[in-house]
Amino acid sequence: MSFISERGSKKGRCFIVKYEIETKGKFLFLLLSTISLILLMVITTLLWWFISPRLHELSSILAMGILTALRMFYFLVILGIVILFFECYSQYSIKVFHKLIRFSIVILFPFNVMIGKFLCIAKDKVRESFVQVNNSFIKSKMQGLNANDILVLLPHCLQNYDCTYRITNDINNCTECNKCSIVKLKKISERYSVKIAIATGGTLARKIIVDTKPKCIIAVACQRDLVDGLLEVFPIPVYGILNERPQGPCINTDVNINKIEGFLEHFTKPIREES
Ligand code: SF4
Repeated sequence: MSFISERGSKKGRCFIVKYEIETKGKFLFLLLSTISLILLMVITTLLWWFISPRLHELSSILAMGILTALRMFYFLVILGIVILFFECYSQYSIKVFHKLIRFSIVILFPFNVMIGKFLCIAKDKVRESFVQVNNSFIKSKMQGLNANDILVLLPHCLQNYDCTYRITNDINNCTECNKCSIVKLKKISERYSVKIAIATGGTLARKIIVDTKPKCIIAVACQRDLVDGLLEVFPIPVYGILNERPQGPCINTDVNINKIEGFLEHFTKPIREES
């Protein structure tokens, strides 16, 4: 799979550089978000229809206050979803609306999972689709980053289960025996001068992010950890990559190195060209 395509002419400094971030599958999350929003609005309207006469009897000011709050709430959620659609299918990113997008996603995500369950769509499929949505709206934020602005955050389960070297402190403790993908990641860290950290859990991951203050994170994890992490560190842009689990969850997992390298190859290119 080709991650990078370039065309243009050096003479005219007219380069069109395109990096294909993996976003395939985002439609499911967007569709579920739309269904959730419509269902929520229908349920709220019905509830309002039942309770509003009683509320008006109690206090017309209270009734008007609640109605205005509901209208504002739905206006913001709808706007957030409309902008999310726009960012997913365009190359543009409107930073001022990113908190609004997150607000809408946080509200609708549990309903998306519930509707998915009702339609026999696995929770992990919904999460996976959200990761692709997230990846598609971070791409416009990535240009012009230095290699040391990027943190590659990896799960501990990538390390071979029988390995006794403490790579969570320092990936350089890996002795390169080639039993797991850590050795390739160590080489990537050297080649691109990029920070790579290995976290044993959410608390350590948070601490690493606070300590290193990255402008962008490439995070490798399973669906659940990735979604929790993406929502938690927002608005720091995170490119999410799902790990591979040939032996089941949390043991001897793997990652497609090309996805990490392709990303770094593109976004750290200006620095490596200068050096
Ligand atoms: S490649 Fe490194 S981390 Fe993996 S098993 Fe060997 S020494 Fe341990």
